[in-house]
Amino acid sequence: MKLLEKGSPMYIGGEWVYSQAIIEVRDPQDNSLVDTVPDATVEDLLRAIDKAVEGVDVAATMTIKERMSVLQLAASYIENRTEDYAVIIAREASKTIREARKEVARAVETLRLSAEEARRVQGETINFDQATGGEDRVGYYYRFPIGLIAAITPFNDPLNLVAHKVGPAIAGGNAIIVKPATMTPLSALKLAEAFEAAGLPSKVLTVITGRGSVIGDTLVRHPAVRMVSFTGGLDAGAHIAKIAGLKKLGMELGSNSPVIIMDDANLEEAVRATVSGAFWAAGQNCLGVQRVFVQKSVYDAFLGRMVEKTKQVLIGDKLSEETGIGPLITEKEAKRIEEWVTEAVEQGAHIEVGGRREGNYYLPTILTNVPPDVRVAKEEVFGPVVSIFPVEDLQEAIQLANSVNYGLQAGIFTKDLDSAFKAIHQLHVGGVNVNDSSDYRLDAMPFGGVKGSGLGREGVKFALQEMTEPKVVCFKLEK
Ligand code: NAP
Repeated sequence: MKLLEKGSPMYIGGEWVYSQAIIEVRDPQDNSLVDTVPDATVEDLLRAIDKAVEGVDVAATMTIKERMSVLQLAASYIENRTEDYAVIIAREASKTIREARKEVARAVETLRLSAEEARRVQGETINFDQATGGEDRVGYYYRFPIGLIAAITPFNDPLNLVAHKVGPAIAGGNAIIVKPATMTPLSALKLAEAFEAAGLPSKVLTVITGRGSVIGDTLVRHPAVRMVSFTGGLDAGAHIAKIAGLKKLGMELGSNSPVIIMDDANLEEAVRATVSGAFWAAGQNCLGVQRVFVQKSVYDAFLGRMVEKTKQVLIGDKLSEETGIGPLITEKEAKRIEEWVTEAVEQGAHIEVGGRREGNYYLPTILTNVPPDVRVAKEEVFGPVVSIFPVEDLQEAIQLANSVNYGLQAGIFTKDLDSAFKAIHQLHVGGVNVNDSSDYRLDAMPFGGVKGSGLGREGVKFALQEMTEPKVVCFKLEK
């Protein structure tokens, strides 16, 4: 990728190209200009799709060895430039430099996992003789690439969430068009740079920068696109699902994750993990802790320690090593959070700590006495605001945890096996962390949610299943 005076180009058909108009990428911390990228038009997109369609055959004929090699080389390219990648994430998005470095390391891991999983793109034999009519038949199935995948990604993990789509797509022999979030397109372009350097054949990967509101519908509806792999909010996800037509959908959406603290929990550890889970990336994290249900007998002790620990979280300059949390992605988002907290307070909520906006920053905030029907209690806050509720017992905690339209992950702190298993079986979520907050994820595990949190699973091996389809071979033998 060339960082010219003209700004950064987008990556289409193996070439770095500009468009008529530009999008300014601004640092949410101080609104300074980081770079510009092309503001792609529908015509740009249609040209990109034509090239990507040519890339479908190119990708499908790459041997597994070639796919593995390209993925490993791209991973090493990024690893060798970790600081460059981290600074781009920290500047265009709202992560601190320490958070950004972790994301780079995870993206490297995601690509390496993709290389390893490429080895295991395989089918199995089928016992046709299990049914009448199959006695003289033998056969098996392969897994074939699905074809052209459109990947639409959010601002909050601008590198690793793109890697979670590009890695498995290439491992599975597909061509892929990435449309990154308008606010954070640079990390995705930098990922394309790694693949170009790694020798990925041109036209297999496209990164088109443009607004979802302008090019989104055309991309999603296009008949050449066989799968839309979307990560983002529920509204955009629901819109895409409505208009996509007959194609596969992967939907990684939001949540307002619950954590349950039982009276036998290790409170020290529960507080540490809950504070980290609530305020990581300024709460702009799909797994972020938003609702905490604490058994009454330990409520006061837990709350007191939470407030104490939250006061120690430093907001500030994202590039400083000391900073704990950075700004919200835009002032508009910070104002939205301010409005939601005000609504809760007007309905009776109490601010234990925080509850104030400073420009694009919102102070880490703990709320108590939150009524169940205000937005901070039932919608996705996607900011540094956590609500703490006292509960009588586990049953009440589970019922409240399940009372919303989201279900990505949950956490429970307890030493009691029965309580843990009850939560595991009864929480309506895609994953339960026992003795951790909702905010733990391994890039190799199946990841996704139920209800408004999504459809399908990512996590390299599982995305790879979604991005390939079985083709059955059946031989009828002569008697
Ligand atoms: P968003 O507003 O839904 O945007 C996500 C992506 O969708 C962006 O690239 C956006 O483009 C695009 N988009 C918007 N409208 C579109 C349309 N009509 N057609 C096609 N594309 C469209 O989400 P965000 O604010 O960037 O990210 C935050 C959300 O993502 C939160 O809800 C969070 O929980 C969720 N998330 C989920 C996961 C997960 O794995 N489950 C992970 C991370 C984040 P523009 O930027 O151009 O509008």
